[in-house]
Amino acid sequence: MNPGAGACRQVHIETFGCQMNEYDSELVRALLTREGYIVTEDRERADVILMNTCAIRENAHTKVYTHLSDLKVLKKTRPLVVGVLGCMAQNLKEELTKQEPLVDLLAGPDSYRQLPLLISRAIDAQEQGQHVKALAVDLSEYETYDDIVPARLPGVNAWIAVMRGCDNFCSFCVVPYTRGRERSRGPQGILDEAARIAGEGFKQVTLLGQNVNSYRSGDWDFARLLIAVAEVPGIERVRFTSPHPKDFPPALLEAVAWHPKICKHIHLPAQSGNDRILGMMNRTYTRRDYSALVDRIHSMNPSIALTTDIIAGFCSETEDEFDDTYRLLEEVRYHSAFIFLYSERTNTIAARKFTDDIPPEVKSRRVTALVELQRRISIERNREYLGQTLPVLVEGDAKKSDLQAMGKSDANITVIWNKTDGPWCPGDVVACSIYDASASTLYAKAIAGTEDSRAKSEHSCTNIVQS
Ligand code: SAM
Ligand code: SF4
Repeated sequence: MNPGAGACRQVHIETFGCQMNEYDSELVRALLTREGYIVTEDRERADVILMNTCAIRENAHTKVYTHLSDLKVLKKTRPLVVGVLGCMAQNLKEELTKQEPLVDLLAGPDSYRQLPLLISRAIDAQEQGQHVKALAVDLSEYETYDDIVPARLPGVNAWIAVMRGCDNFCSFCVVPYTRGRERSRGPQGILDEAARIAGEGFKQVTLLGQNVNSYRSGDWDFARLLIAVAEVPGIERVRFTSPHPKDFPPALLEAVAWHPKICKHIHLPAQSGNDRILGMMNRTYTRRDYSALVDRIHSMNPSIALTTDIIAGFCSETEDEFDDTYRLLEEVRYHSAFIFLYSERTNTIAARKFTDDIPPEVKSRRVTALVELQRRISIERNREYLGQTLPVLVEGDAKKSDLQAMGKSDANITVIWNKTDGPWCPGDVVACSIYDASASTLYAKAIAGTEDSRAKSEHSCTNIVQS
């Protein structure tokens, strides 16, 4: 069977983890569709189920294993090829090949081009009553999938990966081992992709990379790229994630502070507020460097919202060192924060050099304390918007009620209003007057849209907002 003969085979893709994985699933969808496979949302009818996995934290890993055991039941009822893609395939190839007979194929993040071949091999073997493990897990120094147009589902936001891999080797992190060396795409491919996306009706682009602000291609750095994407006609908003605090030259801060289409939000992962722990984590900045960067950002434009990632209970973290992180949250007053309990990952520097010696109950207590603190701060931060009118990009129905619509403010905060306020469609920018706030949501009265969105709404939208 040649790979082009994927015709009529149905493939279902399940995605775990970060936005980069969502983007990779769009690449895989494109690669399989062009070889004749049909990508289906219907898992029950699929000939092939691919799980695009994440290995960053223990819970992501556990979720994938739970899912695999569900598939065992399904595989007993009919012929089915099961594949594991992405970071877990890369990191746990031995474990998955030796101990997991359910898995028929494995493809790491740099091997998606080989998928059609791997799938056809696995199907052929299965049809002949054999079981092979089709495997492609080599990391590449060059693969950026620059020529592949991701098969995106329709929506308001489109992701564009501008670089892949990471060279930072933070001691807790598995990414450099699962996604390989850092490499950037050329700017032209990215700008062409942004123009295509705008033509397809997407209003917002999020530039993605594990260390997105270290982007470099010839004399293009990340600030230049960000501005060029923001200038693409039809793009209303540009975001980026995740930047590393070490790579913030003035030109990048100025672009975020002043360019009208670059969102006033920076996700600035701190990980810890203590210098000894930051050193052990190999983050390459001190608490002082980080605080100075926060001050610089806020002095350029105080409306820039900051969010962060924190790890609690890293190897040997004392109560005093944990208190430094607690105080960092009090000092910066982030709009929101992802707070993680440290989980040791195979192969990382921390797994090799340090002991994961903080008892689980202490880690949990520290996470809870930070989550409670951050919740109080997020409410205070969000209450600062009361009485203000914010431009909101409409995304669709609110999660909890289809009588309400939801969108995102420039600072990336969820805003909700009653659909009876007006007939706006996903992709419209609506002026919302904020009258209430919780830790995660602003409640608003939608009062006006842009000229453009009003004209469009009159023709194509009732006051039902599509999701
Ligand atoms: N590149 C980003 C940066 O430099 O911060 C982060 C990318 S990582 C995919 C997302 C977040 O997962 C990290 O910021 C970190 O807080 C968390 N993380 C990574 N490894 C972890 C581990 N072993 N245990 C707990 N959290 C972890
Ligand atoms: Fe992991 Fe550090 Fe790279 Fe972020 S910068 S992906 S935390 S190694």
